[in-house]
Amino acid sequence: MNTYNPVTDEVVTALKNIVGEKYVKTDAATLDVYKADESLAPSFWRTPEVVVSAGSTEEVSQIMKVANTYRVPVTPRSAGTSVSCGAVPAFHGIVLLMERMNHILEFNEDGMYMSVEAGVRTIDIQNMAHSKNLMYAGDPCSADSCLIGGNLATNAGGNKAVRYGTTRHQVYSIEVVLPDGKVTTLGATLKKCSTGFCLDQLIIGSEGTLGIITKAVLKLVPLCPYKLDVLAVFTDLSKATALVPKLIKAGLNPTSVEFMDNNFVRSASDYSELRLPHYEDGCYDIISIETFNEDELDDKMEKLAAICEACGATDVVEADDRVWKVRRNCLESTRIFSKVATSEDLVVPVTKIADCIQTLVDESKKYDFRVFCLAHAGDGNLHFQILKCDMSDSAWEKQLKEFRAVAYRYVYDLGGRLSGEHGIGLKRLDYMEQYTDPVELDLMKTIKHAVDPNWILNPGKVISAC
Ligand SMILES: Cc1cc2nc3c(=O)[nH]c(=O)nc-3n(C[C@H](O)[C@H](O)[C@H](O)COP(=O)(O)OP(=O)(O)OC[C@H]3O[C@@H](n4cnc5c(N)ncnc54)[C@H](O)[C@@H]3O)c2cc1C
Repeated sequence: MNTYNPVTDEVVTALKNIVGEKYVKTDAATLDVYKADESLAPSFWRTPEVVVSAGSTEEVSQIMKVANTYRVPVTPRSAGTSVSCGAVPAFHGIVLLMERMNHILEFNEDGMYMSVEAGVRTIDIQNMAHSKNLMYAGDPCSADSCLIGGNLATNAGGNKAVRYGTTRHQVYSIEVVLPDGKVTTLGATLKKCSTGFCLDQLIIGSEGTLGIITKAVLKLVPLCPYKLDVLAVFTDLSKATALVPKLIKAGLNPTSVEFMDNNFVRSASDYSELRLPHYEDGCYDIISIETFNEDELDDKMEKLAAICEACGATDVVEADDRVWKVRRNCLESTRIFSKVATSEDLVVPVTKIADCIQTLVDESKKYDFRVFCLAHAGDGNLHFQILKCDMSDSAWEKQLKEFRAVAYRYVYDLGGRLSGEHGIGLKRLDYMEQYTDPVELDLMKTIKHAVDPNWILNPGKVISAC
């Protein structure tokens, strides 16, 4: 079990000496803001003792040295859009804000890469690339608010991962501040590299437990000139999900294959003040195809329409921005039903996604909470948004535990895992211990001990100290 020292006046003074007085906050109102992230799980929230905003790699390095000297925990925080309680300071201490480190450092059109500080917003990276006829392919639905450092730390996925992979696939190198304050660059701007351990990929996805990412060199790809989005509407959930593996196998190489159940269709349409086809009874598959050649796009569209119809689609129509607006608003739209909820992030082999969604939707009907389902279906990544409605706190906790016991066992039996893109955070810590192979878990703890012997950096996340 970790024990830490409180943040004393001496620590606060040391932090002020590093970043300047105005970037160190200890007032109750500020501390209250940073106790939570977007997880809607108040039982996990913890108030920090001090909030510090760093302006450079050197400042991050010095902050880590102070934290080690005084044995105070540090929770790195980008935009706080984590839905896994990743940015919550589990052991109080210092919340370290990265948002001031928000500069695009280099844009190399010929080399097709850009170098950025960790606090740049993902959408600004996307827009910058787009303006030069290139694309940054990382695309979480929270892109307009989250920061690239948070995406790297969680290995964020999103709408384009089915074709381009997750955030870890978009990176040449990262600059990292290690828990002891040492600074290093991991990876290189090279197409291939077999020179030692692949440490950049170890840090990416480690949820800020092994190092603080301060800069990154990101890969860009040519922008496809031809694109079509299709909305395939089904009135039968099992048919909508059965389409997915068939699409992948057909070789269409879609950029996105997103699924929404009818609960999400209705709530996100209402929230967006839009009415799309089959609002009352439809489940949606949204499929994007992008090509470099118009004939290829036409050919793929024909094949896509034929597969959708053969799978029982009621409507197959061109999807405009309204459809993506509804899709993007899914998570937000459920907040009017409940302020307490959990976002499950299960991932299974793509061939199992149809069975998995149907089985877990059927299972969820045994409980009093409400369950909405959507999926980055082309990646086998399903999100169950489970909402506490008209239940006592104890009934909510008990039923959630029961549902998870069934769901997680079933998913692991299918060859799946707890999280496809949101990470473990504080919220899934106990389940990580329960469902991970003990040898694998032990290896992770050995690495953490070696890199961060005082367990100072983001303790209480991913793996536990004991
Ligand atoms: C509406 C909505 C839609 C979403 N859609 C998606 C989606 O499509 N795909 C997806 O993958 N996720 C999605 N998410 C979850 C979330 O946006 C992602 O996990 C995102 O990557 C978090 O970025 P952030 O900047 O908010 O990081 P934060 O929430 O601040 O931090 C996330 C984690 O990274 C650590 N961290 C932050 N910055 C650094 C750093 N510089 N160095 C080291 N560690 C750091 C934190 O300690 C924490 O553990 C969504 C969330 C919301 C609310």
